Amino acid sequence: MTKFEALGLQKSLLNAISDLGFESPSEVQEKCIPLLLEDDTDLVALAQTGTGKTAAFGFPLIQKINSESRTTQGLILSPTRELCLQITNEIKLYSKYEKGINVVAIYGGASITDQARQIKRGAQIIVGTPGRMKDMISRGLVDISKIDYCILDEADEMLNMGFFEDIKDILSNTPDEKNTWLFSATMPKEVSVIAKRFMNNPQEITVGAKNAGTSTVQHEHYVVSGRDRYPALKRLADANPGIFSVVFCRTKRDTQRVAEKLIEDGYNAGALHGDLSQNQRDLVMNSFRKKQIQMLVATDVAARGIDVDDITHVINYQLPDEIETYTHRSGRTGRAGKSGISMVIVTRSELRKITAIERKIQQDFIAKKIPTGIEICEIQLYHLVNKIKDTEINEDVNNYLPAITDVLKDIDRDELIKKIVSVEFTRFFKYYSKSQDLNSSGSDRRDRGERGERGERGERRERGSRDDAPTDGSVRYFINVGEKDGYDWMSLKDFLKDTLDVGRDAIYKVDTKESFSFFNTDAEHTEQILSTFSEFKVDGRFVNVEVSNNPGGSGGGGGRRRDSRGRDRDKSRSGGDRDKNRSGGGGRRRDKSSFKSNSGGSGNSSGKRRSKKREGFY
Ligand code: ADP
Ligand code: MG
Repeated sequence: MTKFEALGLQKSLLNAISDLGFESPSEVQEKCIPLLLEDDTDLVALAQTGTGKTAAFGFPLIQKINSESRTTQGLILSPTRELCLQITNEIKLYSKYEKGINVVAIYGGASITDQARQIKRGAQIIVGTPGRMKDMISRGLVDISKIDYCILDEADEMLNMGFFEDIKDILSNTPDEKNTWLFSATMPKEVSVIAKRFMNNPQEITVGAKNAGTSTVQHEHYVVSGRDRYPALKRLADANPGIFSVVFCRTKRDTQRVAEKLIEDGYNAGALHGDLSQNQRDLVMNSFRKKQIQMLVATDVAARGIDVDDITHVINYQLPDEIETYTHRSGRTGRAGKSGISMVIVTRSELRKITAIERKIQQDFIAKKIPTGIEICEIQLYHLVNKIKDTEINEDVNNYLPAITDVLKDIDRDELIKKIVSVEFTRFFKYYSKSQDLNSSGSDRRDRGERGERGERGERRERGSRDDAPTDGSVRYFINVGEKDGYDWMSLKDFLKDTLDVGRDAIYKVDTKESFSFFNTDAEHTEQILSTFSEFKVDGRFVNVEVSNNPGGSGGGGGRRRDSRGRDRDKSRSGGDRDKNRSGGGGRRRDKSSFKSNSGGSGNSSGKRRSKKREGFY
């Protein structure tokens, strides 16, 4: 018996669950489903974003609905159109083996007559936003006077958005005997008011600590001066070539402005905010889902509840006014048990807010530095080289090969490699070679000119992490494994610690990129590391480590690095099993630079990801 079976779900639902690839229920599902199936009770369920709340109410709702009657029996209220569509979609997937169940979405910005027509055909379940629902009720286009179940999803956000009166009105059109199930990530006062006023002895289920952030998310902050926010954002993007992110701004105007600038600078970016038409918002969301947009710049309201998988980074371009909002933002990443990073760009005067957020989410921020131009160049260089290595050969090139070979015939292999890499790299290098340090506590010339040097260091907070550790005697390494090999910074640190048999603290500044990573140790370990990782194989694949030459450490000179690169490339060639590791690479990879992107290239594989994400949930 699977764990889902044990919850009391009927066969048709279990089949749908297995099609979805859900292996075991999440905690909130495990707690809610049996309770809702067995009892006719009101319920308040609190669980963070990404914990599977939709299924926690969706499965019991479907099982309890009488599909032979066409009466509307269940109403799900959710704050935004996007969420509304998302939930409708999920419920349809869950109920694919149920005969005769109709789910209809009701939301603003689309034809009300079309929606009314769908309702007329008989909808046992309606998923609606409060505004449009109220509208349709008042016009007599929906009848919710006989519902048995009312679900308030993302209740905290609905109230945040000022829907209290609408919800009250809508509920006044429903029967007293119905059951109300309220789902929320947080429990602010307003939600308890709803629970008290409109619910009947609700049972309460809490998963994880109340109001806590998702623990799979690493929180980082970067201190810059106010005017450097935008260049800092660009660097964060450039230092993470595989980034797939939501960038949060405070106002619609900033959102639009930042998105426009990013697009102008050649990034795959898009804006999402309330001043756009529904049609524009749909287009942006679709491109984002397909990963054609790598950086979705959004306001809090517009991005609320968006369930897009595999968001690698949330970037807080500006901090929100409310601490609560930060939890919602960072919850966009690290979903379904995956790891994610929430980055905050702050000025020194905002550091107080970081402390307040830490208290709220009960997690520490890591004080990070905006990468220097050289670091970014290095990251991009390795990214480029790996990309060349992983590129699938287009056999149509063959026709041109004789001519191409002829043109290149006088160039030897090493020279050719240098030239190929330079095609892309030189532009990067030119852009960044004269760039300044953007870190506010650093020795930025403009900073000094303006504010003098006093007090800067003192204000910087030293965190538990060693990111601020002095770099003297510290060595930075490059290792040719990364996220696509299944590592995140924590697991890579564990792997290194175990392989080298050193203490946990010996390895620090672990920074995983898509297909490679960096880490630091004190100089005393260098010899051991280099000898351990010469001819070192994992699953038949050479894993090699070399001293990196970026300022994060005190590595060997550039010449040496380049030599060993060349050698390693040859070495890895002979390790025939490498191909095995290629498969995961294609999907998210997109060329990114601070320059006009010359690749119109859109997602080359997105179909694969759906099945991938189901793995390893919890
Ligand atoms: P929440 O509403 O709590 O933010 P969702 O219901 O949107 O979370 O679920 C987040 C993601 O996790 C969705 O993509 C969903 O399909 C997936 N998911 C839900 N339950 C499971 C499960 N038991 N196993 C694997 N994936 C799941
Ligand atoms: Mg949800």
